[in-house]
Amino acid sequence: MIVIRGATTISADTKEEIRKAVGELLEQIENKNMLKKEEIVSIVFSSTSDIHSYYPAKAAREAGFMSCSLFSAQEPDIEGGLPLCIRVMLFVEKNLSPAHVYLRGAKCLRKDIAGKYNVAIDGPAGSGKSTVAKRIARDCSILYLDTGAMYRACALKALEAGVDLDNEAAIVDLMRGVRLEVVYEDGVQKTMLDGRDVSEVIRENAVSMAASSVSRHPSVRMHLVEKQREIAGRMSCVIDGRDIGTFVLPDADFKFYLTASPDVRAKRRYDELAGKGVTVDFGALKAEIIRRDEQDMNRAFAPLKKAEDAVLIDTSDMTIDEVVARIERVMQEKI
Ligand code: C5P
Repeated sequence: MIVIRGATTISADTKEEIRKAVGELLEQIENKNMLKKEEIVSIVFSSTSDIHSYYPAKAAREAGFMSCSLFSAQEPDIEGGLPLCIRVMLFVEKNLSPAHVYLRGAKCLRKDIAGKYNVAIDGPAGSGKSTVAKRIARDCSILYLDTGAMYRACALKALEAGVDLDNEAAIVDLMRGVRLEVVYEDGVQKTMLDGRDVSEVIRENAVSMAASSVSRHPSVRMHLVEKQREIAGRMSCVIDGRDIGTFVLPDADFKFYLTASPDVRAKRRYDELAGKGVTVDFGALKAEIIRRDEQDMNRAFAPLKKAEDAVLIDTSDMTIDEVVARIERVMQEKI
């Protein structure tokens, strides 16, 4: 016997909404676990106390769950809990590892349970970190912090000032004299250098390689790591980079390491540049990505590395939706 969990939210306390949400939740649980109805022994629902219009158990019966026993209960009011939420447990006569399902508003973590938490996502260039991190942050309504943008801004400053990228002392001096800010406008992160919006220019290829060079220097890293720890210490956030799980936040609540084959990663970067109207040589781009990864993995201080307790996800053959769903499932299962 296994137990499969799930939850969803409704937008209004109406019979129709409850029927629709329960039907959708049970259908996804059935599909994701390849269940046959006769394998389900019983289904237990609980709903928040702001739901009065209909019994979720009745909605399940109407959705065709005829042979199992059904039960609905009301949850106590918990401060900070998700409103209009229906939770479910299915007891199933089957031997598989259960795929739990969280839909609509229940995709994010319950604030009353989770409190403040940090999600660390590390991995090489083009592994999908930033796209996935943005999505998780949006779903969980927490901050996204792109630490790569900080190293990129630092590299841009060094390039513009004509400072030798091997000169650690000169780069740190330069950084101490600048105002590097990460600000949010309509939920979009902007990287500001002395009041100038450098969000676009730091994405250029020359800056990528320079970022990898300046990030080798321990004192440059510590200057930025301090800022990263300060932000993560104050609020829940999804933070992506190379050393988040191993060095910046070794006690992060959730740790993931994304990877993908060099070909896939180069193709993603190629498509991203093409989308901006920039054509580059694919072979050269791939070689550059590999060189940058090697430099990031082999530096002496806080190199790119999977934390032992990070969940490894190879995104080569996965869509963004699939990676996001996998991460959110792991997070839900952990709390
Ligand atoms: O992630 P992104 O490609 O923007 O990072 C640019 C460079 O910044 C990386 O190649 C890496 O050298 C450096 N970096 C780092 N540690 C981080 C984030 C980025 O060393 N936490």
